[in-house]
Amino acid sequence: MLEDFIPPYDATVIERLNAEGYVLLGKTSMDEFAMGGSNQTSAFAKTKNPYDTECVTGGSSGGSAAAVAASLAPCALGSDTGGSIRQPAAFCGVTGIKPTYGRVSRYGLVAFASSLDQIGPICNDAKDCALLLNAICSYDPHDATSSRESIPDFTARLGQPVKGMRIAMPQEFFSDDIDDEVKTAVLSAAKELEKQGAVLVDCSMRSLKYAVPSYYLIACAEAASNLSRFDGIKYGYRGEGKTYEELICDSRSKGFGEEVKRRILLGNYALSSGYYDAYYKKALALKQEIIKEYCEIFDKADVILTPTAPTVAYRIGAQDNDPVKMYLADICTVTVNIAGLPAISTTCGYTAKGMPVGMSFVGKRFDEQTILQCADAFERGFAPVLPRI
Ligand code: GLN
Repeated sequence: MLEDFIPPYDATVIERLNAEGYVLLGKTSMDEFAMGGSNQTSAFAKTKNPYDTECVTGGSSGGSAAAVAASLAPCALGSDTGGSIRQPAAFCGVTGIKPTYGRVSRYGLVAFASSLDQIGPICNDAKDCALLLNAICSYDPHDATSSRESIPDFTARLGQPVKGMRIAMPQEFFSDDIDDEVKTAVLSAAKELEKQGAVLVDCSMRSLKYAVPSYYLIACAEAASNLSRFDGIKYGYRGEGKTYEELICDSRSKGFGEEVKRRILLGNYALSSGYYDAYYKKALALKQEIIKEYCEIFDKADVILTPTAPTVAYRIGAQDNDPVKMYLADICTVTVNIAGLPAISTTCGYTAKGMPVGMSFVGKRFDEQTILQCADAFERGFAPVLPRI
């Protein structure tokens, strides 16, 4: 849809990076309209994982994660609607942070699901993520959801020990749906943090079983609305047709890929009269439930630790014909977006085949500093054993 499109203005994050003297090297591949978790629904190419080129990079920001992992760039940006910074970072063995909703301006970002989308850094470690976050965070009057919360120096707490830090590990994130090698790596990372003085807190998140259906209803509903602007008339791909309706129909049929069309259909269905109450409204009620449970956990913990994804990077093509299986793989990341919280994924170990395993620290709203501190503390202890590509 946007293959030949040249934007008439820069996104706020790009303006900020230019102003700070960053050198922009290019655009990276991603799943079409950020819809996907493997980069296999990219309109251009299926990006390969630098750790094993037969495997996916994760997605949707898989190109960014692969570029950093392969040392093509020291840092990159991604967008995260349901995990698309954290999950590819995990699959490619790098570090990615999704800031609190409203922290980074979305002005100039192509909208997928506006209540969930957030731009953030993908870098080699937490320190670089903090530096890049310092560069891109700002209040922006062009984005109505941009926050006026004061912006700290995100590097300020790096290097500080995690002694006394209360880390909650909700048991639902360690169920049988999570691969054993992933569980083992995250649990041994937790032990390592405990050795550094952190306090592990057992807890529960009962709403997790509703996370994926609520996310896909909310995300698809918002996407159906956001993507209605691509009509072949205003901008983007233009098809053929004698009438206005034929032109729109041809442009959207040819301009959008399969996955995007699937989500537009799902979203419009969930929003249509008669189904709105049964699906969309229920998803919004579950959103409140998820937020409530996060608040309860944060009453007794400073951060939450979970696996970033149920598996490590899998073989390209392995999940091609099963969109639902692909959706279920988002279980560990989507509640963070639903609740608007910040979360960072860092590498916590490797499988027997040498594929990186990611773990995520989730923080309270606007408390990026604590999750950066935790990821950094772990990376400092763990870094010497990291294999380099
Ligand atoms: N994998 C999720 C999806 O397909 C998340 C995408 C994203 O965060 N952009 O919707």
